[in-house]
Amino acid sequence: MNSAQPKRGASVALLATANTYRSQPFAAAAEKLGFNVRWGVDLPAPLAEEWNVSLALDFRDSAAALRALTELAQREPLAAVIALDDAATVIAAKAAARLGLAHNSPSAALAARDKLIMRERLRAGGVRCPGFAAFPIDADASEIAARCSYPCVLKPLLLNGSRGVIRADNAAEFERAWRRVCAILRKSVGTRILVEDYIPGREVAVEALLGENGLRPLAIFDKPDPLEGPFFEETIYVTPSRLSKDEQDSVLAATRESARALGLRTGPLHAELRLNAEGVWPVEVAGRSIGGLCSRTLRFGSGVSLEELVLRQATGLPIGSLAAERGSRGVMMIPIPARGLFRGITGVQAAEALPGIERVEITAKLNYALQPLPEGDGYLGFIFALGDESAQVEATLRCAHSLLDFEIETEIPLEPVQ
Ligand code: ADP
Ligand code: CA
Repeated sequence: MNSAQPKRGASVALLATANTYRSQPFAAAAEKLGFNVRWGVDLPAPLAEEWNVSLALDFRDSAAALRALTELAQREPLAAVIALDDAATVIAAKAAARLGLAHNSPSAALAARDKLIMRERLRAGGVRCPGFAAFPIDADASEIAARCSYPCVLKPLLLNGSRGVIRADNAAEFERAWRRVCAILRKSVGTRILVEDYIPGREVAVEALLGENGLRPLAIFDKPDPLEGPFFEETIYVTPSRLSKDEQDSVLAATRESARALGLRTGPLHAELRLNAEGVWPVEVAGRSIGGLCSRTLRFGSGVSLEELVLRQATGLPIGSLAAERGSRGVMMIPIPARGLFRGITGVQAAEALPGIERVEITAKLNYALQPLPEGDGYLGFIFALGDESAQVEATLRCAHSLLDFEIETEIPLEPVQ
């Protein structure tokens, strides 16, 4: 890795939601590279002051967020504006464009954020696409259900982490799912529901960097759990993939085609794709790096983090070897099994004592409410494992998870979910 350093004191603006999992690794990478971090967080101003956040932004008001970032750049030059999560990718693209920094076009950033625009662009770009249509939440669900083909998947346009993504196998399930997604949207964001044909097959995730040299793959993760619905909990990610070389090439080709169709040119890319007898089907292509704490499974060259690569690329610093470290690594996002108050956990020490387990990190807060999918938007925590072979890493993760016992008090008056 080239050791060129940015000018001491240069700043980078990092845009994040208040509940992001991504701040710590980006802060560590920025510190390593000698950047000052200016946090732009989607928070009310009084809270931002309390939390020592430089900029309180409202991500739904992109004009105001843009003004605040421009003013910041007038006070101190910014070397990059980077969105840590989906919610600010369009604002980051607009701000970077205005400030003359590396950026995706705002329309490409939007296409990689809004699931309907994404499907439209992918289809227009000739990328394999399931049938899809979007409907306003005040549409007549029974009428839509009657003309749908099954199985299908209902999903919000702007949420993530599989929140509100529900499979329906018939009209009755469709109508139930519809009501559930509507309730989620009323409490979050969006007024339309995307309905897609269900794509059967195995699922993988691709992590890549886009830049002058096109798409440079960083990792393909297998997602070995079936993910057949009705809800789609993220659980295990293991890399390197056990797909054949040909299958991996097809996955990367589809990822490249998708990036081209969406117009993404620079920065991190996280894609999810399914494989079946017909070929590779992009499920989602996002212009950001992998979510949760999963990036910890990735180390490049001599111990460089994914976040360091993203920062280097965005600020024009050289990027050395992208070779992954030897061996296999995996992470399990621990799904929330039930709705209730999180009262405790046992088995962490036993799980961490297993050979191959690096760490168990419980991120849910004790005595706080837990909400499983499809309404919920978090994980109980993460289990990290490493080993020589991916199959072994997967087995180790499952074993560690089976040793954990969560105490969740379910008899609490949360808002009813139908
Ligand atoms: P999110 O942004 O919430 O992650 P996705 O569109 O990626 O939304 O959907 C979450 C998961 O749901 C996917 O990883 C996949 O497992 C499943 N899924 C989504 N759309 C489809 C589809 N059309 N067919 C089959 N599975 C799907
Ligand atoms: Ca996804």
